[in-house]
Amino acid sequence: MNPHTVDLQRIERATPPGAMLVVGRIRRAGGAAYLVGGCLRDLLLGRPVKDWDLATDLTPKELRPLFRRVHEVGARFGTLLVPAGGAVYEVTTFRTEREYSDGRHPDGVAYTRDLTEDLRRRDFTINAMAWTPGAAGIVDPHGGLSDLALKRIRAVGEPRDRFREDALRLLRAVRQATELDFRIDEPTFAALREEAAGLRRVSAERVRDELTRILQAPRPSRGLRLLRETGLLALILPELDATFGAPQNRFHAYDVFHHSLYTADAAPADDLIVRWAALLHDIAKPQTAAAGEGETERTFYGHQVLGARLARRILRRLRYSNEQVERISHLVYHHMFYFQTEWTDSAIRRFVRAVGLENIPDLIALRLADMAGNGRRGGDRTPMHRLLQRVEEVMQKDAALTVKDLAIGGHDLMALGLAPGPGFGRILRALLEQVLDHPELNEREALLAEARALAARGVHLEPDAHERGAGGGRRSRDEG
Ligand code: ATP
Ligand code: MG
Repeated sequence: MNPHTVDLQRIERATPPGAMLVVGRIRRAGGAAYLVGGCLRDLLLGRPVKDWDLATDLTPKELRPLFRRVHEVGARFGTLLVPAGGAVYEVTTFRTEREYSDGRHPDGVAYTRDLTEDLRRRDFTINAMAWTPGAAGIVDPHGGLSDLALKRIRAVGEPRDRFREDALRLLRAVRQATELDFRIDEPTFAALREEAAGLRRVSAERVRDELTRILQAPRPSRGLRLLRETGLLALILPELDATFGAPQNRFHAYDVFHHSLYTADAAPADDLIVRWAALLHDIAKPQTAAAGEGETERTFYGHQVLGARLARRILRRLRYSNEQVERISHLVYHHMFYFQTEWTDSAIRRFVRAVGLENIPDLIALRLADMAGNGRRGGDRTPMHRLLQRVEEVMQKDAALTVKDLAIGGHDLMALGLAPGPGFGRILRALLEQVLDHPELNEREALLAEARALAARGVHLEPDAHERGAGGGRRSRDEG
């Protein structure tokens, strides 16, 4: 962006009335107020603004009386949240950051009345600009405008020092490059590699939040590649790092690493669960690879089972919620299904029962991404559309899918004279197996007769497949 061609009128028009209101109040009280950081950057890029940051020379104490309502979270660090015109503005007093002893927390917050000091503490040049409504120019002491034009992430000042002060910046650099589709300037990139180990000081939650944003970007592969090249990936996702160069078989054009990245790219950007499942679906391939007849016939039996376990471990470590961990690892576990149009209704019902109806759209999205990330076959999407259609058709027929949906229950078995206990589950599960094949059997009298027959055969006395912990994926050649 040529500093002389910035269309400030456009920026002014895009600034919401609430921001004007807050700035106006501060000015009338004799203060200065600027739009700073990400919101100014995004306004200049014409991107939607996530959060509105204002910087001012007034202290929180001086600011409070100016507004009817303020939220105090962050006041200790000089930030007040001011609601205005339907949005909330983060109003932060100009500050410098003193010493950094642990690379994580500034030791203290020191206010300053000098805007340029405040801009100097910011991470990247494109985030270190300021503008106040009505002003004829942008305050840009570090060349942020030209870096915006060059699409370049460049640290403010000496990059190594900046990453040592605050190791979170390592990930912010990669994340912003990914979100904005920018390059990382060479000296900044070199410093990322040198200082990568500092990431150990960053909490799992903050790593998670940055990774989440990388995965929600249009093309996560860009960020993941940067993470690997800088050595950051080995620290936060060593399991994925280990897939780099891991060979596949003749069904694939890429190694496991690149296939994983392209699968994540192809998954819907607004679905974090499917994006993660896409990234991790083949995570256990290096450990499960076995030679087939010839190099290109390699097999990966059971990689979905071990992969689900690894996925769970990784996502727990990153402090994703239990629900997210379970949904993602569940998709990894089931990603190898092999749908054929010949599947009978009962095959569809078994599939739905194994996967869970609510997970089927995600699983299909994962498969479509997997196909797109494969780089070899053109990939016919119609069977997946057909599968979804079949699932809907079969569900319309209102088939029984779990023991709870059976027309009889435990009390009926007691009435038949059976003793309560694990035998009840065995009989009900055996009945369910039959109902899956013959939904018309799910009717009280028929089931009672069948239950009697099963009990006469002693089915209730022996542990069944469910109790033996059966399950696990199909052992098939890897095509998924
Ligand atoms: P986004 O809102 O899209 O995440 P952002 O750049 O606005 O991007 P915020 O976390 O909202 O990021 O921070 C606002 C501003 O504060 C940044 O633009 C930057 O100027 C400054 N900043 C944030 N985090 C750091 C940091 N770790 N080190 C230095 N400056 C930072
Ligand atoms: Mg922001």
